[in-house]
Amino acid sequence: MAELTPMMQQYFEIKNKNKDYLLFYRLGDFYELFFDDAKLVSRELDLTLTGRDCGQAERAPMCGVPYHSAEGYIAKLVQKGYKIAICEQLEDPKKAKGLVKRDIIRRVTPGTVVDASMLDESRNNFLACIYATHEDMGMCFADISTGVVYATDTEEWVDVYNELARFSPREILAGGFAISYEEFRSFVAERLEEALVEPMEEECFDAEAAGERIRKYFHIEDFDAAGLRVMPFATRTLGGLLDYLEKTQPASLAGLNDLRLYQQGQYMELDLNARRNLELCETMRTKEKKGTLLWVLDQTHTAMGSRLIRQWIEKPLYNPLHITRRQQAVSALCDDVINRTALTDALRKVFDMERLIGRIVYGTANCRDLRALASAISCLPEIHAHASAFEQSLLRELTGNIDLLEDVRELIEAAIVEEPPVLLRDGGLIRSGYNEEIDTLRDLASGGKGKIAAIEQQEREKTGISKLKIGYNRVFGYYIEVSRSNSDAVPENYIRKQTLANCERYITDELKQLESTVLGAQERLSGLEYDVFIQVRDRVAAEVHRVQRSAQAVAQIDVLCSLADVACDQNYICPIVDFSDKIEIHDGRHPVVEKMLKDSMFIPNDTLLDEGDNRIAIITGPNMAGKSTYMRQVALIAIMAQIGSFVPASSAHIGVVDRVFTRVGASDDLASGQSTFMVEMSEVADILNQATKSSLIILDEIGRGTSTYDGMSIARAVVEYIANKRRIGARTLFATHYHELTALEDLIDGVKNYNIAVKKRGDDITFLRRIVRGGADDSYGIEVAKLAGVPNAVIRRAKAVLKELESTMPQIEIHPIEEQEEEDDQMSFGHMIATGVVARLCCLQMDVMTPIEALNALYELKRLA
Ligand code: ADP
Repeated sequence: MAELTPMMQQYFEIKNKNKDYLLFYRLGDFYELFFDDAKLVSRELDLTLTGRDCGQAERAPMCGVPYHSAEGYIAKLVQKGYKIAICEQLEDPKKAKGLVKRDIIRRVTPGTVVDASMLDESRNNFLACIYATHEDMGMCFADISTGVVYATDTEEWVDVYNELARFSPREILAGGFAISYEEFRSFVAERLEEALVEPMEEECFDAEAAGERIRKYFHIEDFDAAGLRVMPFATRTLGGLLDYLEKTQPASLAGLNDLRLYQQGQYMELDLNARRNLELCETMRTKEKKGTLLWVLDQTHTAMGSRLIRQWIEKPLYNPLHITRRQQAVSALCDDVINRTALTDALRKVFDMERLIGRIVYGTANCRDLRALASAISCLPEIHAHASAFEQSLLRELTGNIDLLEDVRELIEAAIVEEPPVLLRDGGLIRSGYNEEIDTLRDLASGGKGKIAAIEQQEREKTGISKLKIGYNRVFGYYIEVSRSNSDAVPENYIRKQTLANCERYITDELKQLESTVLGAQERLSGLEYDVFIQVRDRVAAEVHRVQRSAQAVAQIDVLCSLADVACDQNYICPIVDFSDKIEIHDGRHPVVEKMLKDSMFIPNDTLLDEGDNRIAIITGPNMAGKSTYMRQVALIAIMAQIGSFVPASSAHIGVVDRVFTRVGASDDLASGQSTFMVEMSEVADILNQATKSSLIILDEIGRGTSTYDGMSIARAVVEYIANKRRIGARTLFATHYHELTALEDLIDGVKNYNIAVKKRGDDITFLRRIVRGGADDSYGIEVAKLAGVPNAVIRRAKAVLKELESTMPQIEIHPIEEQEEEDDQMSFGHMIATGVVARLCCLQMDVMTPIEALNALYELKRLA
């Protein structure tokens, strides 16, 4: 250390306190990085690596970015998952004696960015905190850019994973002794590729300290009333999150004030598989929005609305009362086209108030952000007026929540000029009439110019040189210019400064004195303008709660309007949603396929599932007939209904679904090294372990990846297990190409056969896309192959082979279950073990399992028994 230059010593003092951050160290007009940071950043951003004398024999590796364009570079690094600490000069280098004081003024991490340039406006950016002990787990998810924090607790690991999948945080803080950091990290790396995981110390989750912090930042006194008392783990986890922010991002804490505690069970649960398979917000292959349910339902007009509708889709409701309230709002909006259109027109103009106020509170907003907020606020009265036209209770409540914020708008409009510059230090920010001192200085600065004109006039008269003029340049400041021909008439007090081809330039004492007042005034003016801007920004920041409340009301109105627009455009109807056991849909359509088909017609189909005679629908039919489309359509209609949306059908009755499970197609995109069959079986095991009688299960082609006998046996055992009311008894759609399974209709109570009809004429088949009762009579594999363009010679040969096989192969027959459950539950239990537990055991890959996975598997097996 002793050999280092003083500046480098300072650098190391700061860097050592911020070891896991890339340190952007301000040096003049640049942010410089040194040593390993420099090497890494030069590689990541393709910047030139240079060196700087640091007092030691070797020069310190260095690379830098200009301070005015640093945001772009920071954004790229954060995007890549790095954490950045910005170290500023805390005093003017010109005025500093000795080494300029420097310190960290801001930290930027993937989960805490607030700059618009680094954020996708249609998505929330979450920072997660997970605290897991062996008994209980807490989780919370904070969006610093909008100020919302969700918190919950659970006893089940799967909830943690499902919530992580739902919120897709960019940064996860993890603590508690049940989490081995490495295991958790590899879990996250597999599923949430871009998330950064950081370990947290146990003491960060101290219950008492958590209570203090929650009181301090959320102003909550009564923990019972707030629901915190019954969720001690959520509370401690929240404490951990606040602790982290206190240490790293204190500025963000003022904006975090909207705490939303929720309990598992308040919403329909959707695990990662269901989310992916049903393509709710991104398509399976291309990860795009187009082709998803979000793409169909999102007609929102504001950035806040577009974030909210994603959340609604990711987390449909469970309670029919809450669902009905949303439905009634959508209904009311559908009925009043005039006010709805006016409302959406008004919404279109609103900027992202939520993130603007986020930046204002955080202290990174500039004048343009303030003006943008004012402009957003100025749209509120129009929204309020049109929304007031609706009597429906939810809409009335939301309208009531719109605070018109006139005082905030007036303050900004009175203080900040209409078109402010981006830079804050060069003045030109504050409107005249807002601050007397600014006006005086501005008069002096510009009025100085008037005085200069007066001096010009005065000098012309005094010298008689009519063409004398006063000019300004950076080198000399103000000067008097006289043409060469007149230089004889120049008085003695003129001091010559410069001689040009045709003229001479002079200064006078009077001119210099004036110059210093003018320029001094200008400098003081920009300083004062900056200070006043900060005061105004702070005053606006103090109104954060009101602004957020309004923003959230606007977001909800936007989403409800979007659902109404889609319902009207796409001819959807309002489903009945209640606690019944039914899923009864008439003329149901797949919302996405229907919209994709455009000109060609989508053929609607009916569905009847209940917890009685219609628990399981076994669906057969050739490939391409439309089985997957049909099953997904049922799941999507249930999800849409529980979001509060209308649905594509002529009528629908949905008894609420607690969870949707899907096992659809080969998940060949799972790069986990497991065989497709293994993946399939472990997904089946998850379903069998977690489904309840209120769930909806979609199974597509189970047992395909193994021999026919194996596959069919597993498929049958699974159907039996699900159909068993004492085990699961969930409403289930089961597509299979094992025709033999259609025999189960006669053997198992609650099973019904359906097939998707095709018309056969000679060798050709036409898909009718109609679901009808009964099993399919054939698999039409060869006909479908022909349709797909397989050469005729192969088709002919396949037919010949099939004929021969059919004549020699014995037919597989399905017999009743031997052990009758009613007679001997022990036997039936043994039967289930043979299917459920053994199937699960066979799937376990002991050599690649981590201890925690093994432990979880044991728990699951125990629960199975
Ligand atoms: P399967 O699962 O039986 O192999 P899919 O569900 O993948 O068949 O359907 C194949 C194609 O048929 C889909 O891509 C879709 O375009 C079309 N399709 C399916 N159902 C319908 C329908 N009800 N109306 C119109 N087209 C449909």
